[in-house]
Amino acid sequence: MPAQRWAVVGGGWAGMAAAVEARLRGIEPTLIEMAPQWGGRARRVEIDGLPLDNGQHILIGAYSETLRLMQVVGVSLDDAFLRMPLRLTTPDGHGLTLPPGSPLAAFTRGVFAHTAWPLGHRLSLLSTAAGWALRGFRCDDATSVAQLTRRLPAALRDELIDPLCVAALNTPAREASGRVFLRVLRDALFSGPGSADLLLPKQRLSELLPHPAARWLQAHGGTLRLGTRVERIDACESGWQIGGEHFEGVILATTAVEAARLVRPFAPDWAERAAALRYEPIVTVYAQSDGTRLPQPLFALPSDEQDRPAQFVFDHGQLGGPEGVLAFVISGAQPWLERGLDHTRDATIRQAQQTLGAHLRSPLRALRVLTERRATFRCTPGLQRPPAAIAPGLQAAGDYVAGPYPATLEGAVRSAVQAVAALAPR
Ligand SMILES: Cc1cc2nc3c(=O)[nH]c(=O)nc-3n(C[C@H](O)[C@H](O)[C@H](O)COP(=O)(O)OP(=O)(O)OC[C@H]3O[C@@H](n4cnc5c(N)ncnc54)[C@H](O)[C@@H]3O)c2cc1C
Repeated sequence: MPAQRWAVVGGGWAGMAAAVEARLRGIEPTLIEMAPQWGGRARRVEIDGLPLDNGQHILIGAYSETLRLMQVVGVSLDDAFLRMPLRLTTPDGHGLTLPPGSPLAAFTRGVFAHTAWPLGHRLSLLSTAAGWALRGFRCDDATSVAQLTRRLPAALRDELIDPLCVAALNTPAREASGRVFLRVLRDALFSGPGSADLLLPKQRLSELLPHPAARWLQAHGGTLRLGTRVERIDACESGWQIGGEHFEGVILATTAVEAARLVRPFAPDWAERAAALRYEPIVTVYAQSDGTRLPQPLFALPSDEQDRPAQFVFDHGQLGGPEGVLAFVISGAQPWLERGLDHTRDATIRQAQQTLGAHLRSPLRALRVLTERRATFRCTPGLQRPPAAIAPGLQAAGDYVAGPYPATLEGAVRSAVQAVAALAPR
């Protein structure tokens, strides 16, 4: 039987993963991306001559499918990442560090070792986590993270739950889905050694998967088209037509907004659900302080919606980037966007000077402020995400497709792997 020809529309992480996975199954994929570069929301950009990631990203050890596909396309994980045990500490030494080892034991030891929290707080956290584990890390779909954690002491919610929630779900705890939060906790903290480890990229985002995947596809018989926008998709007797070309299967790995536009003529219910998603922005402030090297590559920062926008700072000098360049991440950034980017930038620099002051070797100056207005969908309780199956021979892939994860690289890659499995001939 001749190999099937599929179109994969969209060359973000979901599309790259789908094309590679399809090729591994003997399909002939044609990957079509409208932008002039691969990578979608996780890519390298060059702004006024300065090469940067379009937003600081972080992976964790539990991203098993992403890490598997990176290796398939020839990426060395040792070269790609600085791997370290989960450490959510602030510059003044507060916060949780998990020692290496089995995640459950590490979590218990890490919580006990955090003596800045009174013993009662630590016991409360451990008994709450044990309760979640006993219930299989499941809760009612309508429960928010704030409701889920309401019995924890306020200090624990401020120092641990809120930053963890906004980092993982990009949605503030009062509006974030408790069910998705528990699933992330389960996979990160309790699904095997190393699953909670932080993987900090040492290479530019495009080199982690998009570019190596494109090179691999080129070498293995895939067809690649950059700078080509798919305007419409039409059903035909034995598959689908795109721009006059016939494909037996199509994986739609665009954004939800574009997927809704493309399928509305023949799958209006699916399109309506995809179009109903709401979004949360992420702002990344890149700044420079000559001669500065932070004591560790990543710090959590005490943040609030009044004066302190950034939840995390990354030291690029320790991550394969230029010395003295720091990336400040503002997740759930809507309140800050409403105040304006100049205000947000200045507030971030003030916050950094206050919290990192002793570590800064020279004045900190802003380099660039990058905003992704639709960084991720708002991961709210009871959210109805569109399913992967759109029509016979047509599957959706992307971080927004129904699944257990929030909008993450791993969510995008897993949805792609599943879409290929669903479409592949048996
Ligand atoms: C600033 C920022 C920080 C983030 N931090 C993290 C993090 O730390 N960890 C983490 O796991 N995740 C993080 N994420 C989320 C992660 O980047 C996304 O979940 C992931 O990149 C989504 O990939 P995707 O392939 O589903 O979608 P996209 O990346 O949106 O890819 C869709 C692609 O389809 C293309 N396209 C659209 N329409 C068409 C068309 N008609 N024809 C052809 N091509 C089309 C687009 O150009 C795009 O390249 C972050 C996101 C942002 C923005």
